[in-house]
Amino acid sequence: MVRFMASSADDIKSVCVVGAGQMGIGIGLVAARVAGLRVQFVDSSAAQLDKGMAFLEKLLAKDIAKGKCTEEVRSEVRARITTGASISQIAGADFVIEAVSENVDLKRRIFAELSEVLPEETILATNTSSISITKIASAARRPENVVGMHFMNPVPVMKLVEIIPGLQTSPKTLDTTLALARRMGKTTTRSQDVPGFIANRLLMPYINEALIALQEGIATREDIDTTMKLGTNNPMGPLTLADFIGLDTCLAIMKVLHTELGDSKYRPAVLLQKYVDAGWLGVKSGRGIYEYES
Ligand code: NAD
Repeated sequence: MVRFMASSADDIKSVCVVGAGQMGIGIGLVAARVAGLRVQFVDSSAAQLDKGMAFLEKLLAKDIAKGKCTEEVRSEVRARITTGASISQIAGADFVIEAVSENVDLKRRIFAELSEVLPEETILATNTSSISITKIASAARRPENVVGMHFMNPVPVMKLVEIIPGLQTSPKTLDTTLALARRMGKTTTRSQDVPGFIANRLLMPYINEALIALQEGIATREDIDTTMKLGTNNPMGPLTLADFIGLDTCLAIMKVLHTELGDSKYRPAVLLQKYVDAGWLGVKSGRGIYEYES
């Protein structure tokens, strides 16, 4: 069988998003709605896939209520989206964006599996927040087709995508990925493949320090957030932001910074570890540094 291969971003007609959590759903929604691509979501958890699709519906409904989307667009977007339970079920994809939990072994396993089921030319992007692209890429059959594509949360709102070439990423992979990000309406920056890239190298130590401040009783959670929100003109304080990102994700990123850079200044706050141990993951679990209604 002769397969058509996407050789540039314009040739990309379909995207597979692996991991239908808060990031995966946002990425898939923007790919379907802004770039007009067919999108297939794959998640190993049926419950998470249902939750993700309900989240996507909620995002579309919100935009309709605000007059930012029409019923017609909603049905067009829905018609472009399908779901699947495993990588082996991927029904062809011109481009893959992986957005599973921030765990290096899991991501490497996924990239090895993707290499087995997809044509070797397919570009495989990872939305990792901090893990080495080079390390993830070495699990794939063609490391030159692997690239970091770090979207910001919430994806439909945030304009930025950090693009991170690994050691072996080819110029063609890089160019196609940059062009696809632009088709999705995003502005890109480019970072070296270093732990945390640009965004999380700067953001996570700030969030971690806010948790240490809370742990040391320097101030209440509200006063820490209000000080940084109003005092530095940020849309939200660091503790609210941590709950929004997910405390498990924040902890995983701090561990990567600490292990890979070997500097004690990146040691995760004890309180951060404790909350994650308790299952207090932030907004997504209903309880983090703050409490949330389901
Ligand atoms: P999440 O916990 O909301 O979602 C992770 C999803 O991965 C879940 O739906 C889970 O079921 C799925 N998953 C786990 N194992 C799987 C497997 N073997 N196959 C398929 N699916 C699997 O996490 P998230 O916040 O969406 O983060 C996902 C990725 O995006 C992480 O690498 C994270 O670092 C990165 N990221 C997160 C943010 C943020 O603000 N949360 C921002 C940028 C990047």
